[in-house]
Parts: sequence; C-alpha cells; structure tokens
Amino acid sequence: MIIYKDEEYRLWDAHSHFSNLVARPLKSFLKALAIYEIMDLIFANWQRFKSISEDRTEKNVYLYKLILDFYQIDKAIHLPVFKMDRKLSYRMNELFPQKLFGFGYINPRSKKLDQDLQDLVDHKVYGIKIHPDIMKFTFKTAQEELIKILRFCGENKIIVLSHTGSHSTLKNLTPILKKSEESVFIIGHSGLCPQVSDALQVAKECPNSYLEMSGNPYTYKFIEAIKDPDIGVERILFGTDIPSLHPRVEIQKVLALPISTEEKRLIFSYNLERVMRDFLKDKFKI
Ligand SMILES: [Zn+2]
Repeated sequence: MIIYKDEEYRLWDAHSHFSNLVARPLKSFLKALAIYEIMDLIFANWQRFKSISEDRTEKNVYLYKLILDFYQIDKAIHLPVFKMDRKLSYRMNELFPQKLFGFGYINPRSKKLDQDLQDLVDHKVYGIKIHPDIMKFTFKTAQEELIKILRFCGENKIIVLSHTGSHSTLKNLTPILKKSEESVFIIGHSGLCPQVSDALQVAKECPNSYLEMSGNPYTYKFIEAIKDPDIGVERILFGTDIPSLHPRVEIQKVLALPISTEEKRLIFSYNLERVMRDFLKDKFKI
C-alpha cells in the first residue's frame, strides 16, 4: 500500500516476474534483464536468504517477496518466463497464497498440450502466461490451439495473460476472444508502443479482455480507454513488469492520470480483485 497526497492506495500487480535463473554467477547476465536497483536488492540480501532455506526455489520465493515488499506491493501475479519457473509459481502458491498468485505456463505449440493443460488444473493455478515472441507463435498461426486453450481456461477458471507488443498482430486476437467468451484475457502491456491502438480496439470489441498498463508509455491512450463507453476504467489493470521495469515509474503513471482518487484505486487494485473474485469464484482463496 502506498500513500500519496494523504490518500491510501493498495497495489495489486497484474504483471511481475522472477526466475530460478537468479544466481550469483549469472549476475552480469541478469543485469541485462532486470533493473539495477532490484539486482542490488537481491544480492545485498543473498546471504541472509541463503540461511532461510537450502532449497533454491524456496529461497527465490522469499527474494521475490522481498522485492514486492520493498515497493509496497500488496499482492502480485507472478508470470513464469521460462517453463522451469512454473515450479517457482507452484511453490509461492503454497508458501504465500494470500499475497502471491503464481501463474502456470502454457506454450500453444507444445506437443503435450493436453497434459500441460491438465497440469494447470492439478496445481489449481489462477492463470497462465503466454508469450508470442518467446514461444514463437502468432495469434494467426496458433489460432486453433489458442481457441482450445482459452475455452479450456474459461471452463476451468484460469485467467490468460499474453505478452503483447511488437510481435504478433493484435487484430488477430479478436476472432479468438469472440470464440471463447467465457475466458478472461489480460492484454499484457496493452500492445506497448507499436500496437496500443489495436489493443484498445480489441478491448472495445471483446468485453472479456483487460488492458494491463506495464511498460506502455501512452498515458493518453489509457485516458481514451477510460473515457470510451465500450471499455471504461473498470477494464484497466495496474502492472509493473518487475524486475525488468521500475515499479515506481509504473506507479507514478497511474497517480499522474487526470482521474479521480476512486478511479485510481480501481486501476491499482479493485479491478483485478473484482475480476479474480467474479471469475475464479470458490477457487480464489482470499
Ligand atoms: Zn513481462
């Protein structure tokens, strides 16, 4: 929770990462992926957390939580970048189910897609992350698989978040979302610079989609979305993209919007909380 101009805001982060790749020998490589302040925070506390647990995954859950606490983030969705990091997600769900929401991992091009989907149900995850660039698919080439995944996720109460930006044409997402109206889909980064207008268009046409703000510098586009009767402030979500982006910049982007305190609260936490409560129902244990 942060306090700004005497107003309190709870922070629910819809987009953050950590990885079991975090290790001392990889420090210089990791500095290309993460902001220096976060890397310094991790390595300044390395020894202290080493004594908490011998288990690398468990220690990394504590380090990730330390970062969130440092930036006053109340609750966060953790998105695995690499397949191995789904284990980090599962472990954090066991250790801190009230604060950390570890999502699962699905690659639409997986040869074991059915088994991977079942794995999500077995681990009772709240959601998944997909990434067109890292997973080498587009919303066009993987249309069939994506409809299958989204329908499965709609039935089994699993939120889907996709990275969006310069990869994969966002317009091709609309027919997929139209064929899986029971799903909840978060447009990660809201198309970044190259596709922000298309992200708004998808949000206009598909009421089951949400615009997540991390990394997207077009604040006027979010004002446009808030004013648009077919989108509205209820479908905008705060996200940080920790550890790649600076959380305080992402927080400031919301605080600086020319909207009311109550509307800022919706973006910072109420919207994500409402989506999770309404969609996940009994599965959501908060
Ligand atoms: Zn990200």
